[in-house]
This record gives sequence, structure tokens and C-alpha cells, in this order.
Amino acid sequence: MKIFTFDTTLRDGTQGESVSFSVDDKLAIAQKLDEVGIDYIEGGWPGSNPKDQEFFRRAAVELKLKHARLTAFGSTRLARNPVEEDRNVRALAEAGTPVVSIFGKTWHLHVKRALGITPEENLKLISETVKHLKDHGKEVVYDAEHFFDGYAFSPEYALETLAAAHQAGADVLCLCDTNGGMLTARLAEIVAVVRKRLAGVIGIHTHNDSDMAVANTIAAVGAGATHVQGCMNGYGERCGNANLASIIANLEIKLGHNTVGPEKLASLSSVCRFIAERANLPLRNDQPFVGKSAFAHKGGVHVSAVLKDSATYEHVSPERVGNLQRVLVSDLSGRGNVLYKLKQLGLADRLNEDARARLLERIKQMEHEGYELEAAEGTFELLAREALHPELRFFEVESYDVATRAFGTTVSRTTAAVTLLAQDEVLSETAMGHGPFNALHLCLRKCLAKLYPQITEVHLKDYKVRVLDSYKGTAANVRVLIEWSDRRKSWSTVGVSDNVIEASWKALVDAIRLELMRLTEKDGASEPAVEG
Ligand SMILES: [Zn+2]
Repeated sequence: MKIFTFDTTLRDGTQGESVSFSVDDKLAIAQKLDEVGIDYIEGGWPGSNPKDQEFFRRAAVELKLKHARLTAFGSTRLARNPVEEDRNVRALAEAGTPVVSIFGKTWHLHVKRALGITPEENLKLISETVKHLKDHGKEVVYDAEHFFDGYAFSPEYALETLAAAHQAGADVLCLCDTNGGMLTARLAEIVAVVRKRLAGVIGIHTHNDSDMAVANTIAAVGAGATHVQGCMNGYGERCGNANLASIIANLEIKLGHNTVGPEKLASLSSVCRFIAERANLPLRNDQPFVGKSAFAHKGGVHVSAVLKDSATYEHVSPERVGNLQRVLVSDLSGRGNVLYKLKQLGLADRLNEDARARLLERIKQMEHEGYELEAAEGTFELLAREALHPELRFFEVESYDVATRAFGTTVSRTTAAVTLLAQDEVLSETAMGHGPFNALHLCLRKCLAKLYPQITEVHLKDYKVRVLDSYKGTAANVRVLIEWSDRRKSWSTVGVSDNVIEASWKALVDAIRLELMRLTEKDGASEPAVEG
């Protein structure tokens, strides 16, 4: 069955505490949502703020929507205004969108307390506003705010508000669990009652305060709703809205409904990442379907089974939602994990069974010391390549020294000195840098520049430090994870120490060694080029 998807990332989503989009962000996200096949994109509330007004003004000119219908959001008219003079309703009519969604009150508590009007007057607000917008040629989605709470207080009145919207011509009657407190079974019962009593499209809009939003939405569809509202990545007020990405994946894959279709479903992960990027928020690794860990296997037993048949530990195949299976290397690893990673590196056939077992032991020992190789795939690759070529060392570190001197409160100067042994030579350099790590990096480069000029391409992309045993206070061990790039590819290395400089230095030396190891292998020489 066709289930219509209504995305409100750009309206309800922006009410999430840490979510903020510029107008450019909103336009780019709307374009993406259209590409993935969303039916309705709620762009904002034109009556409430200048940013949303600008969005709708620019959207009319700049957005090239192939499929989605842009929607403006607002409320029923104020009790004191005739509908044609209500500023908010006028902004909706003039937003230039084919669809408007308006919310009205269902719950006596809100009607009396928040609006200060009688239940009968509220019915009039709903009906007149819907009719006015229909007369302006709009498709109208009526959002029944606090529908389920209102229903709990007075089922008959809650249904009357829907009937008022329906009779005035609303195209969708959307039932909102605005406070997010509903549990699934009761919500589904109520949706079924509405389905029986009223014709037309029933929609569902849930919030996640009870961690039930996606389940509630799926259950509402089971009870007859054919229009689902939500936000990508579950952004939204308080604990967020129902995560539309999970809703779509479940409806398509588990229930065989048609939302965006199987082809566009395969871009779901990339759309979620894009939106997270625009929101400047990390996409949660454990986000179902689309997160980095959604199909990541760590336990040795899991991995050896998944390698035989991925269905053993995967509820759907990751490709269907555009995600990837990953196998993690860690102290829980079995040989299967190591084999999988070696295959990815093209090294599996080159290491014999004994060498693989030794590699696994070394990994487990390092993880025990606080190394984390799941994220540091570069360090894993270096270990594997060292197991293959134990004779290749390129250089040994004789000593390093780093000092930062502060003058008064504002100026500080950092100098470093490094001594290496390479090809029977002693190489020493000093450098000044922007902080200790930069100074050490410059020294290392200077030392090696003559012998290995290729390494000058390696540069830092990202640097993260994490305290491992915080109960030791400032004496704690830290793990430094550094991402590097040489313009062709990027990789991460890791270092652990109770000294942040030393941890960083280890990660740096490993990154350079790996680059040299790869370049040597690429030259096709089993002997190091430096000795040839
Ligand atoms: Zn909401």
C-alpha cells in the first residue's frame, strides 16, 4: 500500500535543542529530501519568524522539486481575528506552497487554558481556517495537536474536532502525540476508532518522549494511517520526533509498503549523513539502519557466522538502505575478524596461519593496554604489514625532546628536537612549531625529507584525545586518535600513553611508517627501496 511520507525536519526538527539550520542549509536539505522521494517537505512556519519567510521566498525561486510538495506550517486563526485578517493564516496562504499544514487544539485543557475560549468556539476556528485555506486552493493537512491526550479526556470532543476539519475539506487528518507519552497498544486502538469513524487520509505524528515514536507510527499504519510524519535522524523538540528514516525502512522492508520505493531507499544512509553534516551534529553510530555501527560486527562468534551468511546476525541487508557491513577488530575478535580485515587490505593470502595468529595476539595485547583499533584502521594495517615484512623498519627513534615556554600570559613558543637512526645514519633536526605536536611533526619531516621525500604529502585531518581512566585525574592514560591524509586516501592511527605528547608521537610515527610501507609495497619490491 502507498504510505505518504511527510518530513518535518526543517520545522519540528529545528525545535530540537542542538539543531539549527541556516536558510541555505534548509534549501539544500529540501533538495535532498526530494531526491530521496519524500512526498511532503514541511519547510517552516512563515508566520513565526523572518528566517522561515526568507526560506519560502527563496524556495519558490531556487528549489527544483521533482516529486515532493513543499508545505508551510501554521496554526488555526486566533480567536479574536476574522480568518481573512489573521496574520498567521495570511502568511500561510501567501507562502507560495501547494500544501499547508495547520495545527488546531483537541484537548479541553489547551482550549480553556491556553486559548481561553469555549470548546464550540474552538471547533469554529478549526473549520473556518481549513475552509479558508481550501478556498485558496491549498491541499490542507490538519494536525490535531495533543490528539491522544485530548481523546483520553473526552473521546467525543476529540472526534468532533477532527470532524470539523474533515467537513471543512481537510485532505489529511493527522493525529499528533504531541507530548510523546503514548504507549503503542492504546495509540493503535485509538487510531482504529478514528479510521472507523472518519473517511479520508489519516496521518500520524509522534514524539519520542517514551522512546516509542517509531513503534507508535508503525502501529498507527497497522491501524489504518496512510500518512506518516517524522524527522530524519529523529531530530525534534525534547527527545525528538519519530525518526522518519527508520519509519521508511521498516515500512518498506518489513511490511512491504510503498513509501519512497526500493531504489531510493538505497540512498537513505547518505541522506541521513548529509542532514547530520548540515546540522553539524555527528550521526549517531548506533542509529538503526543508517548508523556506522548498524551492521558492524565485533564478537568473534558473530563475525565467523556473518562471514558464512550475513543473515545470521543482520536483520536486513545493509545495501538496501545504502549502508555497509563492517567487521571490527578488537579484543573480542576471533580469527574471522582479522581474516576479513586482511582480505579488505588484499593481504589475506600473504600471511600464513601462524602469522595471523601472532597478529591477533598482538592486537589483543594492544587493546588490553588501551589501544582501540576499531577506529584506527591505519594502525591495524601497519601491524599487518609489519607481520608480513618484519625486516622493514625505515627508521628508529633515538630520542625526542619538546619544550614550550610561555612569556607572560599571552605568548608561548614551542621548540622540538628529534634524533633518528635511518640507513646507518644519525639524523637530528630541531624545529619551532604551533604547539608541541606540530613542532615534533616538523622535526620528523625534516629528518626524513632527504631519504623519503614522499612523506611530505602526509598531513593531519583530525585529532581526538580521550581520557581512558579518569579516576586517575590528570595522571590518567589518554588515547590519541589521529586521522591522516596523503591526498589519495585517508587513514587513522592511534597512540596510548599517560603523556599526551607521547601518545600523539606514537600515532604520528605509525602514520609515517605506514605510508612508507605502502609506498615500498607499491614499488613492487619485497626488499625495502631504501636498501636497494
Ligand atoms: Zn511535533
